[in-house]
Amino acid sequence: MTGIRVTDHTSGREYEIGADIIINAAGAWSGKIADMVGVEVPIKPSPGVMVAVRGRLCNMVINRLAPSGDGDIIVPQRGLSVIGTTSWVVDDPDNLGLPKDHIQKMYDNGGKMIPLVNEAPFRAAWAAARPLIGPRKAEAQADTGRELPRTFKCFDHVDEGVEAFVTITGGKATTARGMAEATADIICEKLGLDAPCQTRDVICLPHTAYYN
Ligand SMILES: Cc1cc2nc3c(=O)[nH]c(=O)nc-3n(C[C@H](O)[C@H](O)[C@H](O)COP(=O)(O)OP(=O)(O)OC[C@H]3O[C@@H](n4cnc5c(N)ncnc54)[C@H](O)[C@@H]3O)c2cc1C
Repeated sequence: MTGIRVTDHTSGREYEIGADIIINAAGAWSGKIADMVGVEVPIKPSPGVMVAVRGRLCNMVINRLAPSGDGDIIVPQRGLSVIGTTSWVVDDPDNLGLPKDHIQKMYDNGGKMIPLVNEAPFRAAWAAARPLIGPRKAEAQADTGRELPRTFKCFDHVDEGVEAFVTITGGKATTARGMAEATADIICEKLGLDAPCQTRDVICLPHTAYYN
């Protein structure tokens, strides 16, 4: 059988789901998933800290026109403003911690762009890992993660002897459509389907179109 064995952590139930092909789209965890299958995915997890404050301090994204650095972007999101971000590299995308000095950097540098950042009520701070394509081992050269590319790659693991397992990883939220296209093209080829990509031409409705 081709498929996966999953554990439902709410019930503890373990079961198998069969599929013709499995797509590993586990972001910063894609290397760990590949390990389970015995194939290699060169992913370097690179966490960053973000801080959300209450209030919409700008109506469009504000980004410093400078080489990428800590706290150089403010993104309005509904009633919040999100200040991002820092960057470091880890071997394991779980248990990242939340360095306090990184939170402070968001206030210090965010406040240089919009001084009201320092007066706005705190809403949340968190760390999450980006999946950056780069060497996984600790000794491999990666300092803050800013030197690693933001590109994405679709790996067909048939070259490593695993027929029905494909990984899509790397990239950014803004490259998600292109990542889906690259993956769907490989899957279609593997399934012997000739179907042109449609998402390149179809304009998606904004999320607000789904609410009254
Ligand atoms: C600090 C930071 C800054 C960013 N900045 C930008 C930016 O400036 N511009 C931009 O466009 N994007 C940005 N992003 C977005 C980022 O690039 C995307 O989140 C990234 O492309 C990952 O998307 P993904 O869908 O591949 O993975 P994820 O969104 O991480 O999804 C992977 C999923 O796999 C699940 N998973 C993992 N292991 C298992 C398992 N064993 N079983 C079941 N499920 C599992 C996880 O729970 C998760 O839901 C940023 C992200 C971070 C963290």
